[in-house]
Formats: sequence, C-alpha cells, structure tokens
Amino acid sequence: MHPVKMPSLHILLLLLTTTTALADTESRIQYLANEGVAVFHEQTTLLFDPMFRPADTYYASVPEETREAIINGSDPFEEIAAVFVSHYHHDHFDPADMLRLMTQHETTRLYAPKQAVDAMRAISGSDQADIFKRVTVLDLSYGDEPKLMQTGNIEVEGFFIPHSGWPNRHADVENIAFRVTIDDVATVVHFGDADAQSEHFARHLRHWEEKEAGVALPPYWFFGPGDGIDILETYIRPLRSIGIHAPASYRNKENIPEELRDFDLFTDPGESRVLRIHRAEPARPRQGCRPIRRRPERFALHWNPVGSGLRAHAR
Ligand SMILES: [Zn+2]
Repeated sequence: MHPVKMPSLHILLLLLTTTTALADTESRIQYLANEGVAVFHEQTTLLFDPMFRPADTYYASVPEETREAIINGSDPFEEIAAVFVSHYHHDHFDPADMLRLMTQHETTRLYAPKQAVDAMRAISGSDQADIFKRVTVLDLSYGDEPKLMQTGNIEVEGFFIPHSGWPNRHADVENIAFRVTIDDVATVVHFGDADAQSEHFARHLRHWEEKEAGVALPPYWFFGPGDGIDILETYIRPLRSIGIHAPASYRNKENIPEELRDFDLFTDPGESRVLRIHRAEPARPRQGCRPIRRRPERFALHWNPVGSGLRAHAR
C-alpha cells in the first residue's frame, strides 16, 4: 500500500460524499383528476386516489388514455411503488379498476381504508387472493392514533381525519389522510376529503410536529372558510400547497371564485409542478407560520410549473 496515496484518497471520498449530500433532488407532482395525483421522485412513483369513476361530470375524470397507461404500466407508470386510497366514494375509488391495477402491477403496494379493501374483496376472484398480500388495510376510527408503516424507501403515516361535513354528513366514511416520505427527503400529504376543522388535526399534534411536508395536497375547500389555512400553517407546514378536488368547471379560470385565486389549484388533468428539494438543508425547526398563499418571489425559487420557463434562478 503506497503510504502517500491514502490521505488523498480519503479527501477524494470526502469530496464525493459532500457533493452527493449537496445535490438537489426533484419531485414532480402530476395531476390525474379530481383528487388523483401522481408523485415521481427519482425512481419512485406513488399514486393517490388514481382509480375512480365519478357518477357525473361535476368533477373531472382521469382521461381514458391516462387510466389505461396507469393500469397497463406504460410510460411514465411502468413502476408504481405504492397506491394510496383516501376513502371509498365513487369520485375517489373504483374497486374494479383498482383490482385491474393491482393485477397488472405485481409488486405495487396498496394502502387503503377497510371500506375500500372490503369492496375489492367482494368482487375479486379466487385467483386474485395473492393481491391482498400487498394490501395494507387501514382500519381506523376517529380518535385512533395514526398508523405508521415503512416499506423499503417509503415511510407511510395514515391519519383518520373525518370526511368533510362531519359530524352531520358522511360520518360513517373512513377517510384517511396520508403523509408519505420517499428517501427521507420528499414528503407529500394527501388529505382525501378531510373536514377542515382544526380539532381533527390538533389531536395528532405530536405526530405532525415530527416533520414538515414538501407538498400538501388539500381539497380546495381548505383555502376557503373554515380552519384549512390554519391547519396547513400550524400542523402540515408544507413548502407548497396545491388544492385538489376542484370542480371541473375551474378549468376555465374565470369560474374560479375570487377568494381562491391567490392559491395554487390543480384544474387541468395532466398538468404538473416540480418541487426542488435541497438535500443538504438541515431539518427546519418548527415554525409557527409558513406561507400558504402563493407568493411570486418564492414561487420562482422553489416551485416551477413544468414548461413555464420559470426555471429557478435559485440563489
Ligand atoms: Zn368523499
């Protein structure tokens, strides 16, 4: 062993390690329709509420070619690590399509409330029994502690948050909000049809405090009357929030109510956002308030609509 070369090799290794640690990473968030969202982070693809068939056209449906691409595993859906279902309402979940997806994708994991999994079991064939080995049932009720799960590079936390309208409407619906982290750096929160009252989130304060989110995907009513903004700022603390579940009519921007126009909304199936994450950033200490309203100067730094030419001039 050459005595002189060892120190320089050490330095080289150190430099390589440092460079890797500083490298930025990106998540791309693609809108499928309604509350359906795909998250692409490096080699990992996650889908939230991707398979549904609404009863009417008030909410947008996933375009047929996108639905088929997801089920058949064509570009960019070849490898789907995990699918998350918030609750069993027809504009969020279709058991037959989900069975097709899970049959085609032989390693994909599914996280769903019991009501949704029961509906899949009820129509599944005996030859589909193996699928359910990859299904995690979230059998939670109001007040239960969140369920924490780790599979490979994906950390999943499922919180029972009652459906919007609680306690008068849909009180029997198991609605799960998911906080999912990929590779310890990319955290996405999907709320399903969560009711925008702080008390539902305050009871899980200890868990929310453990990490901030990169992207929050609240139903658009979180930006309206109620506690939605406060919930985002106090408990979820995301870098960015994108409202989902907007009525299909909002594709025409003139139909978006005045009070929602300051906020980022997904309205066009297929549109995307890219979140750049600075890996080297140390975990931020808890901050009371994070900017939820879209602010152009921050928008340009962190958050770039794909193809908009707004590519970050990050400093
Ligand atoms: Zn619902």
